[in-house]
Order: sequence, then C-alpha cells, then structure tokens
Amino acid sequence: LVVLKNVNKHFGALHVLQDIDLTIARGEVVVVIGPSGSGKSTLCRAINRLETIDSGDISIDGKPLPQEGKELARLRADVGMVFQSFNLFAHKTVLENVTLGQTKVRKIGKAEAETKARGLLDRVGVASQADKYPAQLSGGQQQRVAIARALAMDPKVMLFDEPTSALDPEMINEVLEVMQQLARDGMTMIVVTHEMGFARSAANRVVFMADGRIVEEAVPDQFFNNPRSDRAKDFLSKIL
Ligand code: ATP
Ligand code: MG
Repeated sequence: LVVLKNVNKHFGALHVLQDIDLTIARGEVVVVIGPSGSGKSTLCRAINRLETIDSGDISIDGKPLPQEGKELARLRADVGMVFQSFNLFAHKTVLENVTLGQTKVRKIGKAEAETKARGLLDRVGVASQADKYPAQLSGGQQQRVAIARALAMDPKVMLFDEPTSALDPEMINEVLEVMQQLARDGMTMIVVTHEMGFARSAANRVVFMADGRIVEEAVPDQFFNNPRSDRAKDFLSKIL
C-alpha cells in the first residue's frame, strides 16, 4: 500500500534519510523506533508530503505522491496523521474539528458529516465532549479527537508520530487503547513510538532507524528478544 524506494533527503549537510526502502502492506501495523534525530519524524512527514525528498520514490496505492493543489489535499486526507503536539483547530469545537475536512475535502454534506463525526467521537470515547473547544479537553482527550478527525476522512493509512509522548502518564493508555483497537480493525498504520508495550502487542513489524537509515526490521518478538545489530542492542539496553 505504501512503498518507499531508495528515498534520500538532506537538510543542508545532514543526510537525514539515507536509501530508505520500505513497503507497508494493507492492514499492516509498522512501529518505527530509533534514537532521537534518526529521521523518524522526517520519514513520516515525507510520506504525507509535509517534507519533500531529494531522490527516490514514494507511492501510495501504486500512485506517486502528488505535488500540489487538490491532489495534495486528497493525499493528506488519505494519509491521516496524528502528531505529538495536539494540533486541533483551537477555535473550532470538537465536533467541527471532526466535520470540517469531510465537508471541505471529501465534499460530504454537513448533516452526514456530523453524524459520522459523532459516531467516531463515540468510538474513541469522547462523544460527550463534542461541543467543547480543544483547550477544555485533557491531552488524552485531544489526541483521541485528533484520531477521530483523521479517521473521518476514511484514510488508507494512518501515521502516528509519538502520539503519546506529550501526555501525562495516566492518559497514555487511553490513547494507546484506541490505537490498539484501530489496529485490530485492520487499519494500515505507521507508528513512531517509544511505547514498547504497544509495539510488542500491536505491531506486525518493527523498523529500527539510526542515523537516517533503516538498520533492522523484524517481527516484534525477534526484535526485542534477539536484535541482530549492535545499534539496536545498544538502543534497547537504554530503553528497556
Ligand atoms: P526524535 O526522536 O527526537 O523525534 P526523529 O527521529 O523524529 O527524532 P527527525 O525529527 O526526523 O528525527 O530529525 C532528524 C534530523 O533532521 C535531526 O538531526 C533534526 O535536527 C534534523 N531536522 C529535522 N527537521 C529539520 C529541518 N526542518 N531543518 C533542518 N534540520 C532538520
Ligand atoms: Mg520525531
């Protein structure tokens, strides 16, 4: 579904993505881990075309990423993204946050969009917050609204870039549980996270990055119990 071929990206002298080859099948859940600065966020942003690449190819559903305009807006809808920082529209209610993209990008009527939004807010457990503004919600609630907002676009794939790392500990699980359920429902997901419990239980595959490269890929059991590379061993010894 998502294919990256020989992708390279520089920030000035920094070679932040180096010869990245990665294929994600429909329904697959891939957890990306690695040290700070290894290029995980840049990888996610490149898939959503929030970042351009210098060389290589990225395609979704067999189509190369569009460059601009309406096609790009549709790509952003097809590739739902949830960031570390809560990025809801502050001056819109929760319901409006989950309705807006549907009416603007997907051209769905307002009533239908609201019905769908309420259903999704219910699914992520924040139905009772629909008329509040983001600032009136806890971080965990805001992240769940952000997930609902992305899901409202019927994305082909969901990208999560450390969605729980800005949350207070007691709110992390409520977000991870929504993500777990999404994975069980068959959503294709790319998840950058330091939550190794989530990686073990939800991931089909772990991708370990260091210095802009994919150093190792394996099923979670093998990766955590028997990492092959010294970089991965060293990383795991620091975080586990
Ligand atoms: P973290 O775990 O800290 O989030 P990461 O693996 O997500 O790290 P990236 O955010 O992808 O890492 O950054 C990779 C490298 O690229 C870092 O050295 C970062 O400083 C650099 N970088 C990221 N964005 C830019 C930018 N817009 N301009 C210049 N350098 C950048
Ligand atoms: Mg990052």
